[in-house]
This record gives sequence, C-alpha cells and structure tokens, in this order.
Amino acid sequence: MKRDLLSIADLDREDIERFLDRAESFAEVSGRQIKKVPTLRGRTVINVFYEASTRTSSSFELAAKRLSADLVSFKAAGSAVDKGESIRDTVQTLSAYDPAAIVIRSPHAGAAAMVAGWTAASVINAGDGKHEHPTQALLDLYTLRRRLGSLDGVKIWIVGDVLHSRVARSGILAFGRMGCEVTVCGPPTLIPRDVESLGCRVAYSLDGLGEADVVYALRLQSERMEGSFVPSLREYAALFQIDGRRLGAGQLLMHPGPVNRGVELSAEVIDSPQALIVAQVESGVVVRMAVLYELLAGFSQGPQGGARDRAGQAAEPQPA
Ligand code: ASP
Repeated sequence: MKRDLLSIADLDREDIERFLDRAESFAEVSGRQIKKVPTLRGRTVINVFYEASTRTSSSFELAAKRLSADLVSFKAAGSAVDKGESIRDTVQTLSAYDPAAIVIRSPHAGAAAMVAGWTAASVINAGDGKHEHPTQALLDLYTLRRRLGSLDGVKIWIVGDVLHSRVARSGILAFGRMGCEVTVCGPPTLIPRDVESLGCRVAYSLDGLGEADVVYALRLQSERMEGSFVPSLREYAALFQIDGRRLGAGQLLMHPGPVNRGVELSAEVIDSPQALIVAQVESGVVVRMAVLYELLAGFSQGPQGGARDRAGQAAEPQPA
C-alpha cells in the first residue's frame, strides 16, 4: 500500500518520532564531503509547485538528490498550466513517468489530498493553501529537539498571522503531539475562531510572552489577505513585532521564512544567537530526506519487518 504525508493531523507521536529519528540518522550524511546515499537509486521523485517557494522546493530537491533519486522539478509558471491544463491532468501526465513520490505545493487547501487520489505515487504535502505544511512542522520539531533535547513541557508562543498560516496549523498540532504547551498570539482579526480546538491557548497581546521558552513568529501573509486585517504595518509592528526589548535573554526565536524584516521581526533579533532561523533551513534537508525515506523505503515490509528497499537490500544510509 502506498503511503502519503498529507497532514500532521494524520500522525501520532510515534509516527513523528520515527521521522525525527530517521532525520538524525541522515544528519551524519549531511556532514560528509560527499553527501549522498544510494537509498532511492532508480526511483523518481517529482516536485510540483503551483506557488512560490525558496526553502521548501530547494530542500526537497536536495533531499531527493542526496538519496540518489531521479528528480523532476515542475513549476506551474512556464508549463502547460499556462495553456490551461488542470492540476488533475498535470498530475496524471506526470504520473506516466511512474514516480515513487510526488511532492505538491498548491495555493488551495485540500489539494494534496486530491492529488493523492489521482496517482499511485506517494504524495507529500509541501503546503496546501491555509491548511497544512507538515514537513515544516517536522523540521521545526527536529530543530528544537536538537537544541533542547526533550520537547515535553516546552512553552511555545506562535505569534502573528495565525489565520492565514498553514505553518501555524501544522505547528500547533505537531508541538502539541510532542508534549509542548502552545499559545497562539496576535490581533483578533488574525486568530481563527476555533483555533483552541487544535489544542492551544489564545492571547491577544504580548503581555504574557515572558513565560515562553520559544517564540515562533509568523509572516504577515498579505498574498492571502483579501481586505485589511491590520490597520497598518506600523501599528501591527508596534503591538506584535518581536524585537530586542520583547525577546527575553533565555528565549529561542523561530520563523519559517521568508521574513518581512521590520514587520514581524526586527533586524537585531533575526541576527541574534537566539534565532534558530538558519538552523531550521538546514534541518529542512535531513527532515525531507527522512520523509522520502520513510514513505518510499522505510516500511515497505511493515514496521516490524525491518527497513528494506524494493530490491530487498538493507536500506540504512550508506556511502554512495
Ligand atoms: N514558507 C512558509 C509557507 O510556505 C511560510 C510563509 O510563507 O510565510 O507557508
């Protein structure tokens, strides 16, 4: 049976830990001069991006290449999509190459789940509208676990445009599954109404920020806003920007990128030693290697049967 990664909501703590532990095993490969293992040799990975991306697309590309897969990177702009081809026809066309995995980024919530119904490939959600961005949440957990050891009881404040953020949605679920205490914070216009049902608290001001071990700032996502959600960027920054005054000495700072410098974060905190932003990008490669590995090679003989690839070879990371 094929395995997909569509949302954090589908994963329990044990599933998440398996991805994180697998990513640890690839960290050593990333430290080598030749950062390549033969695990997915002869298998095809297709990245299909209908929306702008820097970090997610480049790290999925590197992850597939470091696992020795054949890679096709499809960007909607400049493709037959410009001639009116639908996402379904595009996916079915690309599926003719018999890919092992399709990595899909779309501006529409639910797109990854739909794609999963149209292809025999394993589908990985690389961000679907405001819905979820599961690999971002996994790389955030990995980054934080490396830094702190255990995540149990860690207090995380997710600050900013929660309403338009798939990162927040996946993050609230993922941090919660790992035993963190999550608070979301922002102006009422940018907090979704039912957000507590995901397992977090809500704050409408930064007054209590001092309790946080980790401050996770979000980008103001103007491309997803129809109409005005904040009176002005200046006013938003005055009330919610994380700056050197607000970020306590012992607190860690995270952000999924891209950052609006001077809006949700001030320049001084972005470049401070407390910021894990660069470490998050670095984690993106090993975590996406782990996801590809687990879906395509890790459990083809069942979780108890040992990790074996299609050819029946032990598929542990080895030098190429
Ligand atoms: N890069 C993240 C995403 O694609 C966060 C953002 O765009 O603000 O959702």
